[in-house]
Amino acid sequence: MSNISSALYSIANNKCPRCHQGNFFENNNPYVLSKFDKMHKKCSVCNEDFERETGFYYGAMFVSYAVTVIFGISLFLLMCVLLNFDAVTFIIVFAILQILLMPVFYRTSRLLWINVFVRYRLPKIN
Ligand SMILES: [Zn+2]
Repeated sequence: MSNISSALYSIANNKCPRCHQGNFFENNNPYVLSKFDKMHKKCSVCNEDFERETGFYYGAMFVSYAVTVIFGISLFLLMCVLLNFDAVTFIIVFAILQILLMPVFYRTSRLLWINVFVRYRLPKIN
């Protein structure tokens, strides 16, 4: 998909932000709803700590808000400006999509947030 050294690779493929090899969330499918929020405590490849400190992922809420606003504006421009739907239809579609995409936004926000603080580095070979 994208270059393995890019943060986008980690975010799009549910990978550790340090080595881009170990999984970040336990399950790759965000729609396994009983496990969509379950993260590994540490990376299985490089031992990077995913639970960095208490409250670390509070920042991911602000990332989630920004992602939601960008998504809403993009949907509004598509539906109301380009396709000429009315505002009520837009709000209904936006609300339904927000519910359906919640697991994806949740996971993407956490991966975006940890990628702000952790840089890619090749894992040590033992
Ligand atoms: Zn790792």
